[in-house]
Amino acid sequence: MNHTRIKAGLIGCPLNKSLSPRLFRLFSSLLGENYSYTLLETRARGLARTLKKIKNLGWAGFNVTLPLKEKIIPFLDSLSPEAGAIGAVNAVRIKNGKFEGHNTDAPAIKLALRSSGCRIRGGACVIWGAGGAARAAAWALASDGAAAVEIHNRSFSGAAGLVKNFSGRFPHTRFAARKLTDIPPEGAALFVNATPLGMYKPLPASLRFSGGPGAFYLDLAYAKGLTPFLKNRTGAAISGLDLLIYQALKSTELYGGRRIRPSEIVKLKDKAVRQLHFG
Ligand code: NDP
Repeated sequence: MNHTRIKAGLIGCPLNKSLSPRLFRLFSSLLGENYSYTLLETRARGLARTLKKIKNLGWAGFNVTLPLKEKIIPFLDSLSPEAGAIGAVNAVRIKNGKFEGHNTDAPAIKLALRSSGCRIRGGACVIWGAGGAARAAAWALASDGAAAVEIHNRSFSGAAGLVKNFSGRFPHTRFAARKLTDIPPEGAALFVNATPLGMYKPLPASLRFSGGPGAFYLDLAYAKGLTPFLKNRTGAAISGLDLLIYQALKSTELYGGRRIRPSEIVKLKDKAVRQLHFG
């Protein structure tokens, strides 16, 4: 165990159901690092005050959740290229008193797909949602070489905005905006739920659409057991809990200042899932 204390935490609101303190306690034993992890419940109007407090507390970095992933950007000193392109920050490293914004959701999605054997290069993908999580997914899929990505969203303008932004950045990927109720293409390799649908509200029929036998399904939302989006699928299912753990492990690389090999991250994620007793 490295006894140097690494101070980190989470900001956003509400945080009372957050699994992150349990995760970072687990990481302390799994990674042999000594994390102290604090929740600072913060709304947009209290953001400047919280950031000042964090600097005074000497944190190495912190995670950011709803509703601050976009709102925090003007307060940061720099952004990683991914976070800039995605327009959402879920992890901040504090280096020499400066705040660096990162997005670890996107590499977490890539890792979850690769470790499940989902190859999307040249394939078609469907994403439901156009918020921060959907943009991280779209960035991950396009940068891994997806040939086509359809964005299905409740507000069509949200889907169209994402498509416009990403089409310019990824000319080899054909982006298209669709309504939430539109039926997706049957031959898609991957279907991603990046909305909270199925958790607190029933899953609409369009999100129950099933592709071919080799299709993959990835839910960003998570719950004890399989989420409604992942239930009764014939293809492979990737859970939001895996993503939550991957993005948190990727953020420890920022706070602890060292890299973890992808194969090691997958093993650590499996151990964390078993020890969390969540599901
Ligand atoms: P945002 O608020 O940025 O976006 C929410 C998206 O969901 C929008 O596209 C919105 O559509 C859509 N939506 C919300 N409510 C409804 C509804 N009642 N009916 C139809 N569409 C709806 O949130 P995020 O993108 O950050 O998060 C999306 C989900 O992903 C959440 O459940 C979040 O918990 C989860 N998540 C999980 C992570 C993990 O590590 N497992 C990481 C990040 C997110 P519209 O544009 O029309 O408003």
